[in-house]
Amino acid sequence: MNTVNLLILDDRIENVISLEALLSDIENINIICSTDPNEALKICWKNDISIALVDVQMPEINGFEFVSLLKSNPKTSHIMAIMVTAISKEDKYLIQGLKSGAVDYLYKPLHPEITIAKVTAFIKQIHIQEEIIQKNTELELSKKALIKANQEAEQARKSKEIFLANMSHEIRTPINGIMGIVHMLKTANLNNEQLDWVRRLDVASNSLLLIINDILDISKIDSGMMKIEFEHFNIKNLLLDLNKIYQIKAHDKKLQFNLNIDEKLPAYVNFDSLRLQQIIGNFISNSIKFTEQGGIFFAIKVLDQVDNNFRIKFSVRDTGIGIKHDAVDKIFLAFEQGDDGITKKFGGTGLGLAIVKRLAELLKGEVYAESQYGSYSEFSFIVDMEEVENKDTVKEEIIKQYNELEKFKDFQVLVAEDNELNSFMLSHILKGWDCNVTVVKNGRLALEELEHKDFDLILMDTHMPIMSGFEAIKEIRSRRDTYKKRTPIITISASVLEHEQQAAFQVGADEVIGKPFNPIELHTKIIKICKMNSTVL
Ligand code: ADP
Repeated sequence: MNTVNLLILDDRIENVISLEALLSDIENINIICSTDPNEALKICWKNDISIALVDVQMPEINGFEFVSLLKSNPKTSHIMAIMVTAISKEDKYLIQGLKSGAVDYLYKPLHPEITIAKVTAFIKQIHIQEEIIQKNTELELSKKALIKANQEAEQARKSKEIFLANMSHEIRTPINGIMGIVHMLKTANLNNEQLDWVRRLDVASNSLLLIINDILDISKIDSGMMKIEFEHFNIKNLLLDLNKIYQIKAHDKKLQFNLNIDEKLPAYVNFDSLRLQQIIGNFISNSIKFTEQGGIFFAIKVLDQVDNNFRIKFSVRDTGIGIKHDAVDKIFLAFEQGDDGITKKFGGTGLGLAIVKRLAELLKGEVYAESQYGSYSEFSFIVDMEEVENKDTVKEEIIKQYNELEKFKDFQVLVAEDNELNSFMLSHILKGWDCNVTVVKNGRLALEELEHKDFDLILMDTHMPIMSGFEAIKEIRSRRDTYKKRTPIITISASVLEHEQQAAFQVGADEVIGKPFNPIELHTKIIKICKMNSTVL
């Protein structure tokens, strides 16, 4: 506890001595005495005095004037003044003392116990005040630190977002090119050996895309940018489709693949079908990857039902290599694998299950793993789903080769894309649909081209040097010439970020396609927006 400085001011030395003697037993005080008000004022300015016991009747400056002087100076205004007086206890003196700024009175002859009790009470008050001031200062400091930490976190989040946007564009753009050329090669007249090379290239570029998508997914989830999209869909059909896909993959490895759907499973549910497929797909792919003999058993069980809310368990059990006991808890962490030798033998990034766990949390579900090393593994996802009316919002996909699609006669397309591989691939695809294609490398050149030629469609990359796609679209949409101003525009964005795609619509794009894109999706979007804008096809 801090020592409190206490001043005794009385023009009569005997009074000072007796008061000092009376107070000397109080703990944590340092007593300073004076018989001269002028000297006492200087003491108050120079020392950190907290309490002053001031005699009222003094020559030159009386006690009331002295306290008024203390209160009028910011350096001494905080001092608690207690008037010590022998004069009448009449109200007028009391009021005068309190008006001058005194906090209390002591009457002569001093009653020892009352004097000690009063001074002790004021010292306590001072200590409490000091504590409050200190706590306030600490609070102020931690508030400042918190604001700073928040600003830093926000800055870090923004940098991560920008990095994610740039990285997804930079990496997905060349993959888009590679996958597009693979698409083209598949339709070229190749001999069997060449077709086998293309098939290998296809597999390699697809797995590269999967790895990149995993990295982008985990960053997206960690920075809170992963969006969950609920829709009404036929869950039984989805499970049967997954069954078809994975049965082929399992049979390629000579493994059994069994699907068991609980009869109580509703046909239609309101859920994020894409994320459900991602979770189940990850379990099954891992099972196929880590199983050499036996099979994979995929079961869907209704655990509970209240009205139209179903608690459903999706489990994938295999007869594979299993996971060591101490590794089971680790495998849901990013970059963790059950065994160090696993990467060498089976490959993989260790991200799949970390994404699954985070997705399950976003979907308010839970994931579990159970395994016996060398014997089996079982992964399950338990989640609540709401049963809905029979309404499919998922569109059926027609599987066709892109070069078999409807042609666009005399259709003028301007392609603004700085990546040569991509623009080459786009031109090839568009020419295959009988389009006349003009290719430029940035937004500025696209505007120049549009100056002396009309186009039926513009395909605009978003990130380009000199002038970005967004800037170019803004300029086009603000033109006077109504025909050019309304030219249908599709932006091609390699970003995985939802808001970048939203930004494209905001600047005036009619459609957005992601990279890598499927040529069939491009064809569908061209038909959609060009019909919408009544452009003659
Ligand atoms: P990876 O890309 O390495 O497969 P995952 O996150 O999907 O990453 O899996 C993490 C680890 O969990 C794997 O490396 C493997 O050790 C273990 N694991 C996952 N599924 C199985 C399974 N069905 N059988 C055995 N081990 C598995």
